[in-house]
Amino acid sequence: MYADIIIDITHEKLDKVFQYSIPSKLEGMLNVGTEVCVPFGLGNKERRGYVVDFSNECRYEESKIKEIIRIAEESIAIEGRMVALAAWMKEHYGGTMIQALKTVLPVKRQAKAKVKRTIRLLLEEEAGKERLDFYLHKNQKARARLLAALLDNKEIPYELVTGKLNIAANVIRALEGQGVLALEEEHVYRNPIRVQEKAAKKLEYTEEQRNAIDQFRKDYREGIRETYLVHGVTGSGKTEVYMEMIADVIASGRQAILLIPEIALTYQIVMRFYRRFGERVSIMNSRLSAGERYDQMMRAKNGDIDVMIGPRSALFTPFEHLGLVVIDEEHESTYKSEQIPRYHARETAEARARMEGASVILGSATPSVDSYYRALQGKYKLLPLKNRAMLQKLPFVYTVDLREELRNGNRSIISGRLRELMEDRLQKREQIMLFINRRGYAGFISCRACGHVAKCPHCDVALSSHKGGRLMCHYCGYEETLYETCPKCGSKHIGGFRAGTQQIEEVIQKEFPAAKALRMDMDTTREKDGHEKILSAFANEEADILIGTQMIVKGHDFPNVTLVGILAADVSLYADDYRAGERTFQLLTQAAGRAGRGEKSGEVVIQTYSPEHYCVEAAARQDYEGFYEQEINYRELMGYPPAEQLLAVLLTCEDEGLLDKGGYYLKEYANKMNKRSEYRIIGPAAPYVGKINDIYRKIIYIKHEKYGMLIDMKNQLERYIEINEGFHNIRIQFDFNPINIF
Ligand code: ADP
Ligand code: ZN
Ligand code: ZN
Repeated sequence: MYADIIIDITHEKLDKVFQYSIPSKLEGMLNVGTEVCVPFGLGNKERRGYVVDFSNECRYEESKIKEIIRIAEESIAIEGRMVALAAWMKEHYGGTMIQALKTVLPVKRQAKAKVKRTIRLLLEEEAGKERLDFYLHKNQKARARLLAALLDNKEIPYELVTGKLNIAANVIRALEGQGVLALEEEHVYRNPIRVQEKAAKKLEYTEEQRNAIDQFRKDYREGIRETYLVHGVTGSGKTEVYMEMIADVIASGRQAILLIPEIALTYQIVMRFYRRFGERVSIMNSRLSAGERYDQMMRAKNGDIDVMIGPRSALFTPFEHLGLVVIDEEHESTYKSEQIPRYHARETAEARARMEGASVILGSATPSVDSYYRALQGKYKLLPLKNRAMLQKLPFVYTVDLREELRNGNRSIISGRLRELMEDRLQKREQIMLFINRRGYAGFISCRACGHVAKCPHCDVALSSHKGGRLMCHYCGYEETLYETCPKCGSKHIGGFRAGTQQIEEVIQKEFPAAKALRMDMDTTREKDGHEKILSAFANEEADILIGTQMIVKGHDFPNVTLVGILAADVSLYADDYRAGERTFQLLTQAAGRAGRGEKSGEVVIQTYSPEHYCVEAAARQDYEGFYEQEINYRELMGYPPAEQLLAVLLTCEDEGLLDKGGYYLKEYANKMNKRSEYRIIGPAAPYVGKINDIYRKIIYIKHEKYGMLIDMKNQLERYIEINEGFHNIRIQFDFNPINIF
C-alpha cells in the first residue's frame, strides 16, 4: 500500500502530493487526514505532512520510493470530510493544499489533558478513628490532620489538601500506601462557559417567527437541505428563531454551528444559548487558551456537545453529523478571511453543508447585497421578519445636514438637534449612544493652506495623528512627531479632518460636564475582556453615554438606550471601494437599530454632509429594499459583484522593475487565454496602497459573469506562474470578490 502525502511546507512549487510507502508497522493505522513524519528532499530531512489519499499502485520507480517514518507526535488528525472541504477551498480560493488543510484544522496540536484529582477515604469510620489515634500518639501531625479532614469529608479535592490544608504530596502518598486513602484521577474538559443562570422561559412566537420556523422545519423533515436568508429587522427575534431551528436539528440527532462576528460573541448571547441547551453548548474564540480550544474541539468530536458558537473558524468544528450552520449578521466583512486561502465563510459553509447533508441559515437586518441578490434569484429561500418581536416601534430618525450647521455658525461636532435631544435624555436619566466611524484622535493631518498631507515614507498612505503629538502609519507602524508648521509651505494652519472617539469624549466632557461617558474603541478594549467590561458597565447604567466605533453596534441589548447619535455618517462613503455604499448603509441601519429596544421608544440623529445620498436616505427611512434597488442598479451598471464576479490578482515584490515586468507578462498571458473576449481584464495598476513596508504592489482585476470561469482562469494563471522562472521572486495571491480592495 502507498499513501499520497501533502508536505507541510508552504511553497507553491511543492504544492503537489508525494507518494510514500506504508511500512508494515503502520498498516491499518493511517487514515485520510492523519499527520505523519516522512523523509523529504535530497537530505531526507524529516518533515511533517498529511495523508490525503491511498493507492495500491506505485507511480514511481519502486526502489526510489521512501517510507513513512511514523505518525506525528501530538498530532490531531484532520477528519476525512474536512480534507475534502480543504480541496474545495484550494480550488475555489487559490493557495496551496497545505494552507487549506491548516485552515480546516483550527486547533493543530494536542493540549495536555486537564485532570481533576480527588482524595477519598478508604477506611470505615471505626478503623479511621483508630488510625487517627495512632498518628496522634506517634505525633505524626500532618498525617493526623489529613485523616481528620477525611473523616469529616470522605472526598476532598487534591488541590485543597496540598493548598489549604498544607499537606505535602509525600504524606498523601504514604497514606495511600497504607491503604488509608485512594488518589483518584479523572480527565475533565475545560469548560469556558461560566454559568450563572439557568432555565429559559418559553416564548410565544410571533406569526412571522412561526412562519419562518415552520418553513424550515417542514423542509428539514422532508430531507430538503437549503440555504435560507432570514431578513429580520433588529430586535425581530432572529436569535429565537435560530434557537428553535437548532433544537429541531438536535432532536433529529444532528449538530449545529452558529457563526457570529467575534465582536458580538458576548456573555449575553452565550447565556441565551446556555439557558436553552445547557451543557451541550460550547464556544470557540481567540480569547480561549490553547487547552480550552483543544478541549472544545474534542468535546465536539466525541459528541459531548451539540452546538458550537464562534467566529469564522468555528465553521470547521469536527461534528460527526452536522445538520445546520447558522451565520448571524451574515453581511459582516469579518466572514471573509484575509489570509490565504481567502475564503468566505458563507460560501464555505454552503460547500460543507452540501458535502455533509446540512442546511444553512443566513441572518441579518441588512443582508449583504450578494445574499439578497441570490435570494431574489431563488437560490436562497427568503424568510422575512418585518416587525420587532415585542412590537416596539422602529426608532424615529432625524437627518441633520452638517453644512447647514456650519452656515448657522455651529462648529461643534454635536449638532443643535442632537444637543437638544441629549439634554432631554440626560434629564430623564435615559441612555445615549454616540457612534463614530473611525478610530484614533483626529485621523489624517493636512495643511489648510496648501493641502499637504503627511504620508508614510514606506507605505504610501496618510499618517494618522495620535494623542501625545505623534503621527503613525497603521500599516507598518512608522512613527514621527507631529510638526507645528507645514514642511511644504510653512503655514501654521495644520489640522486633523475627522473626529475620533477620544476627541468626542473630550467634547462631551466639556459640553456635558455632569454626564458620565464611556468610550469603546480599539484603544480601550485592548486588554482581555476590556470590551465586555465596558458593555456591562453601560448595561448596568453606570454611565449615561457610550461613545464608540463599529464595535458598539453589535452584541448587547440596552433597553434604556433611547437616543443614538451618528456623528459623521458619510465618512465611510468615500472609501475607494465598490462596497463603500453598502457598508455605510449597513452601519447606519445597525447603529440606528440600537435605539428603543426596550419599552421606551427611541430616536436617532444622523449627522451628515451628504443627506441626499441614497445610502443615507434609505438608512434614515430604515428601508432595505429601497437601498437594495439603487445599489444593485449601480453594481449592474459598473459590472461589480454580484452582477459580475471579480477576481483580484495581487502581485507583490521588493523590486519594482521586476514587479512591473511580472505584471505585464501575467496580463499578456491572461489576454492570450481570453480568446473569445469573455473576460474583462483590468490593470496591472498600482492599488490604493501602492507600497507596504517597502514592498511594491500591483493588481490585476479579472471579471466574468460566472464564478466557475474565474476559477478556470485562476488555474491557468497558477500553472503559468509555476513553470515560469520570472515569477519566482514575485508573490502572487488570488482574491475572489474581495472585501477590501487592496
Ligand atoms: P434579533 O436577533 O433579531 O435582534 P432577538 O432574538 O435578540 O432579535 O430578540 C429581541 C428581543 O425580543 C430579545 O430580548 C428576545 O428575548 C425578545 N423576543 C424575541 N422573540 C420574542 C417573542 N416571540 N416573544 C417575546 N419576546 C421575544
Ligand atoms: Zn502647507
Ligand atoms: Zn508605513
